[in-house]
Amino acid sequence: MTALVWFRNDLRCLDHPALSAGVEQGSCRAVYLLCPQQLDEHIIAPIRRQYLRLALDALAAELAALGIPFDIIDAGHFRDVPGVLNRYCQQHRISEIFAHEELLLDEIERDRQCAETLPVPLHLLDDCLLHPKLVCKDNGEPYKVFTPFSRRCRSRLREYWPRCLPRPKPQAAPIKATSAPVFGEEKDATDWPVSERDVLAQLKTFSRERAPDYGRQRDFPAEEGTSRLSAALALGLLSPRQCLARLQLECGDALWDTQSGAGIWFNELLWREFYRQVCYHFPQVVRGRAFKPHTEHLQWRNNREEFAAWQRGETGYPIVDAGMRQLLTTGWMHNRLRMITASFLCKHLHIDWRWGEAHFLAHLIDADFASNNGGWQWAASTGTDAVPYFRIFNPTTQSKRFDADGRFIKRYVPELSDHKGNALHLPPNVKYYPNPIVDHAESRAFTLALFEKLKD
Ligand SMILES: Cc1cc2nc3c(=O)[nH]c(=O)nc-3n(C[C@H](O)[C@H](O)[C@H](O)COP(=O)(O)OP(=O)(O)OC[C@H]3O[C@@H](n4cnc5c(N)ncnc54)[C@H](O)[C@@H]3O)c2cc1C
Repeated sequence: MTALVWFRNDLRCLDHPALSAGVEQGSCRAVYLLCPQQLDEHIIAPIRRQYLRLALDALAAELAALGIPFDIIDAGHFRDVPGVLNRYCQQHRISEIFAHEELLLDEIERDRQCAETLPVPLHLLDDCLLHPKLVCKDNGEPYKVFTPFSRRCRSRLREYWPRCLPRPKPQAAPIKATSAPVFGEEKDATDWPVSERDVLAQLKTFSRERAPDYGRQRDFPAEEGTSRLSAALALGLLSPRQCLARLQLECGDALWDTQSGAGIWFNELLWREFYRQVCYHFPQVVRGRAFKPHTEHLQWRNNREEFAAWQRGETGYPIVDAGMRQLLTTGWMHNRLRMITASFLCKHLHIDWRWGEAHFLAHLIDADFASNNGGWQWAASTGTDAVPYFRIFNPTTQSKRFDADGRFIKRYVPELSDHKGNALHLPPNVKYYPNPIVDHAESRAFTLALFEKLKD
């Protein structure tokens, strides 16, 4: 009899609890169930589609080197998964299945149906940073605000430091690797590393050379100040435990200092955990609802032409346009710009955050439902943010602060390459570049009125 390791968003061999458990059974094989219909229903960017395919190829090569047969099967939709797995188990005389638990609604339901209908046990193992994975208050309630959550996580991690599992030993001589099929429109993702070796090298370089300065550099989009590991983390080419382990190795105890670069980066990994837990405890956000129910009554203007201008990066606010064009051309956007562009859509154009959330999913290589939803609801003041709705980013002030010399803007908005100073951050009539689509002061006043109305 053979054990089956079911890969999901955990496409790696190192530090993989389910793979280690499968290999321990003596004989195992592995499977990935591609669900193109599910992916289309939930929106997938063409660049992410290619990235996923390349990552599957890289995983297939790793597993082949370990002598583990790996099948990539088109299962269509999540609802078809139990049937497909059932047939697979019979065909290959599978005795048990190992996989990692996921915390989103559809995934939970898929796993429940599998557990109920499969003829063999499905073992769902923990693949989270924290152990046990859910961090609640002393009274058992989930956290709704990040800062106390992160404090609790840190104290827990001080007591229980997660251990990274080694690569499993080969179970047989190397075999021929399978390759993943093309499953829809793709955009070139070959600039993004997919092999475990390259991704780990990226982590090492960042932790050693840039993490100590992360606090000073991370907000400036023209600098290479952040790790750019989000795409790898989203597909699980890397585990958050590996991130912490490497950070500790390179930065030592600075990790625990919340003011140090390493400590601030550690915090970002906790934001990622936080939004996952929010999705688990407050599943209304996965169903497209606001975290704060009363904000469902916000009267968005939802002007389609303004939305299209925002999507194209033609709002007349250079920092917003540069961010939106970075997304369209590269499939990634710097965090500071995600905050500015999202805030602009909701609080300057008064467009429903869900429109922006979907647009990001349609273009991001690192699309991650929980982090994207959390980021959007944060920007729209409908989410977990402790800061009240009247924090409204002024795009011009943000631009002067975080791209003072306009290096980033000029990279993506070449129409402004000859501009500097105020004429760059809020240009007066420029040929070939739009005038500001809305006035900042008027939009701000409108937003305040929108939120004030909620109190009536
Ligand atoms: C509107 C909006 C949408 C977003 N959508 C996504 C998304 O779809 N996928 C995604 O991974 N991140 C998302 N983020 C969070 C953040 O912008 C990205 O994780 C970050 O820009 C990725 O770059 P990096 O890997 O260089 O990050 P680093 O600064 O190096 O951070 C390290 C890791 O920590 C995690 N992280 C960092 N910031 C956050 C955050 N605010 N929330 C949750 N996790 C975080 C990421 O996994 C990231 O790779 C969004 C933020 C906003 C404001």
